[in-house]
This record gives sequence, structure tokens and C-alpha cells, in this order.
Amino acid sequence: MRTGDQTYIKELNTSIVLNLLRTHATISRTEIAKKSGLNKATITSIIDDLLKASLVEEVGTGPSSVGRRPVLLHFHADAGVVIGCEIGIGEVRAVMTNLSGDVLGRWHEFTKDDRPETHMLWIERIVSHAQNHANLTPLGLLGVGVGVPGLVNYKKGTVLNAPNLRWEHIDFAAMLQERLVTPVYVDNEANAAALGETLVNPEESMDQETLVYVSVGNGIGAGLIMNNRVLRGAEGLSGEIGHMMIEENGRLCSCGSYGCLEMYASVRRLLQAYESRVSQRVTVEKYVQRLDEQDPVALQVLEEMGHFLGIGVANIINMYNPSYVILGNQVTQFGVVFLEIVRKTIRQRCFVGSYSSVDLRFSKLGEDSCAIGAANLVLRRFFARPT
Ligand SMILES: [Zn+2]
Repeated sequence: MRTGDQTYIKELNTSIVLNLLRTHATISRTEIAKKSGLNKATITSIIDDLLKASLVEEVGTGPSSVGRRPVLLHFHADAGVVIGCEIGIGEVRAVMTNLSGDVLGRWHEFTKDDRPETHMLWIERIVSHAQNHANLTPLGLLGVGVGVPGLVNYKKGTVLNAPNLRWEHIDFAAMLQERLVTPVYVDNEANAAALGETLVNPEESMDQETLVYVSVGNGIGAGLIMNNRVLRGAEGLSGEIGHMMIEENGRLCSCGSYGCLEMYASVRRLLQAYESRVSQRVTVEKYVQRLDEQDPVALQVLEEMGHFLGIGVANIINMYNPSYVILGNQVTQFGVVFLEIVRKTIRQRCFVGSYSSVDLRFSKLGEDSCAIGAANLVLRRFFARPT
């Protein structure tokens, strides 16, 4: 932290004021002074700057018991836009949001291959589409966030290993940055999706809680948020719970180890188990249809897979005592019956569970969760306190 530096103090105070504005529909200068502890002259000067920067608007006056009615201020969420992208396996997704994370546009496409260049070209195209809208806003496009399914060094923006994409040591942020003039941030998809959850449930102030987002699709990964911070670990590689070993001499995993959680509780594994029992290949959509039809084999494999996922989640709860465990990705299509199966195992197998009131739920963001979270990567950097 810089100390004794006027610019730093001003940036810090501005960030405090901005965050108060963002979390209140309307607020007066007096209320900001009261809540922040800053003096009125400082507030007046900061608000003047924010008005000039188009980040704040004056929206009428509020009630007053004595004296002049206070002018109400409102955070101008449409002052600029950000883009969030998800690199998928054979597909890409993007959203454009305003400064509050409200989705203004979305894009999705299947890609002909998974080469980094193919994904970059697509993102470049989305950015140029979005630029038309961004140019109409006072601040324009503030940045592009990207979520990638694999090990990502967030500080460097390097994808160390994304086995499903066959990417190893790809400096994705640097490569994309060469093509774009706006800042680029790259993170692991589950970390990004966890940040997406804090954005869509603001009424619950999830970012202040301990929240674990568990992505269950072809693989399993997790993003952990604690007291408004993403816990990334020393190199940004934390959250790989798909490779948590639940059977010492269990099934051989693609990572080279044995008995990893994702060999028992991923959607890919569930489909394999179902296919081998009905001797027929099925897509996730087809499987979900069978579930809806109460197919007993479909229900049976769901019970087995949900039980193993419950063991993984019980381990997470024992470790972190989270307030929320949010299940996302393909698993959200399996309905409340699936949540009940997972809850049952947690009740049976989790030591901490019986003393805590963890809220296990599905993500509300559906297929956009990673892209919206990637947009939040940019927003969090834009509104971050200076360091
Ligand atoms: Zn593994």
C-alpha cells in the first residue's frame, strides 16, 4: 500500500463513495458522509468529479424534516459497458453488460475447432459489434473478461493447462491484448462463475459471505469467494475439486491420479453410466427428457452420481463452512430432485453440516454464468480500491 500519497487517498475515498453509490438506489451527499465517515467537503469534491465523469446523476430531492431537501444521487450504471466471454469446448459465449452487470446483449456460437486463434478471432468480432453500442456511452467499453475451463494463472493471464481444449501454457491474456485496445482479464471458469453469482444476488450480499460455486459439467471445478475476495491460491490454481480423491485406488483419471471426484460425479460420467446400462448413446438433453419421464435407470444413475457429488460437497463444507454452495453448469438441468439427493449425502456424511445452515442451490444464471462472471472480473477491477 502507498502511504502519505494524496493521489492514493483521493482514489481510495473515490472508491468508497462509488461503492456506496452502487449499492444504494439513491443516496444524498449527507448520507454518504454519514456512512463513509468522510467530511462533507471531500464528498462534494468527489461527487463533482464523478458527475463530470458521468458515473453519477442527480435525480431530484429527498425528504427532509428540517431545512433544505437533500439532492439525491444515483449511480449511472449505463455510463459504460463491459464484455464477458466464456471459452467452451467447441463453443464460445459472450455477454455485454452495463456497469451494474445487467445483460444488454448476448452471443453464442459453435466453433470449428478449439485453437486459441479461433477463439480470439471470435472475441475480436464480438468486441467490434459491442463497440457500436459502447460508443454511445460516455465511458465506452471498459474491458473484456474471459473465463477458461482449466488451470489459469490469473495474475499473468496464462492458461497453464486446459486439457479439454488441449491448451498448454497459452498466454491468452497477452495474445488477446495485442488485438484489443481495451484491458483484458483471464480467469478460470469456475472463479469467474462464482463472481457472476455475487452479481445477480446483490440483495443477499453474497460477496461478503463464504460462497462456493461448483461447476458440474464434463469436469468438476470450484470457485471460492470469502469476504469479497476470490481465493485463488499462490499461483491461482485453487478450486480443482474435480481432482479431490474420494477413492484411494479408484478409477484412473485424465490427470494421472486415481479415484478423483470427477470420475464419479461429472455429467460426462453420469451419461457414460446411463449409456452402458441402456446400451444407447444419449445427449444431456435426451437424458434430462428421460428423467422427466421418470425412467428408473435415469433416476438410478442420478442417485449414484448425486451421492458422490454430495461427498465432494461435504468435504468442501467441512473445509470452509460456506454460507452458500451453488451448483452450476449442466447439472442445473437435473431439477430439485437432484439437490435433494446431494443434500441427503451431506446430512449423512458432513460433520460441519449439522451445525451450519449452508444453502445448497442451483445457479440462476444458467448457461451465462461464466460469461457474466467474466464481465464482473472487469467491473471489480474498475471499481477496486487502489492498492
Ligand atoms: Zn484427476
